[in-house]
Amino acid sequence: GEERENLTYELFGQAIRELAQAVADDGYEPDMILSIARGGLFVAGGLGYALDVKNLHVMNVEFYTGVGETLDMPVMLPPVPNVVDLSEKRVLVADDVADTGKTLKLVHDFCSEHVAEVRSAVVYEKPQSLVKCEYVWKYTDRWINFPWSVEPPVVRRDGQVLDA
Ligand code: 5GP
Repeated sequence: GEERENLTYELFGQAIRELAQAVADDGYEPDMILSIARGGLFVAGGLGYALDVKNLHVMNVEFYTGVGETLDMPVMLPPVPNVVDLSEKRVLVADDVADTGKTLKLVHDFCSEHVAEVRSAVVYEKPQSLVKCEYVWKYTDRWINFPWSVEPPVVRRDGQVLDA
C-alpha cells in the first residue's frame, strides 16, 4: 500500500464525527476537553462541537530541542493549565496522534493527580505507543501527513520566512 497516511481536511471532518460518536456511544460525558497544542487543537475544536462541550483548555507540550540535540522526553511549556480548572472534572485529552505516546503519558500523569477521570481521544495511534488511548479513529504504523502541517509555513511578500 501507500507508504504514508494522508489525512485531508475532508477526511478529518469524517474522522472527528466518528471519534465523537465513539465517545458518546461509550457513555463518557467529559466536563472538559484538554487539547495538546498544536495538532490537538483541531481535534479538540471538532470534538467540542460534536460532543457539545464548550469547556476547552490547552496544554503546550513539545519535545525540547536544544542546540544540536533533542531530548528524549517531552516537556510542558507555559502556561500550564491551572489545577483548579481541572479539579474533580471528567477530562477528555485530545491530540492528533499517539506515536511514542510520551506526550500523552505526560499529560495523563499531570491530569490524573487532579481530575476525577481522564481519558484520551486521538485520530491515530501507533503500535509502539506506551499509552493506549480509549478512543482512536485509526491505528497505523506509517508516518502521517496532517492537512495543517503537510505544507510549509507561508512566506511573507518580501520572501522572509515567518517566525524564523
Ligand atoms: P508522541 O511521540 O509523544 O506520541 O508524539 C509527539 C508528537 O509528534 C505528536 O503530537 C505529533 O505532533 C508528532 N508526530 C508523531 N508522529 C507523527 C506522524 O506520523 N506525523 C506527523 N505529522 N507528526 C507526528
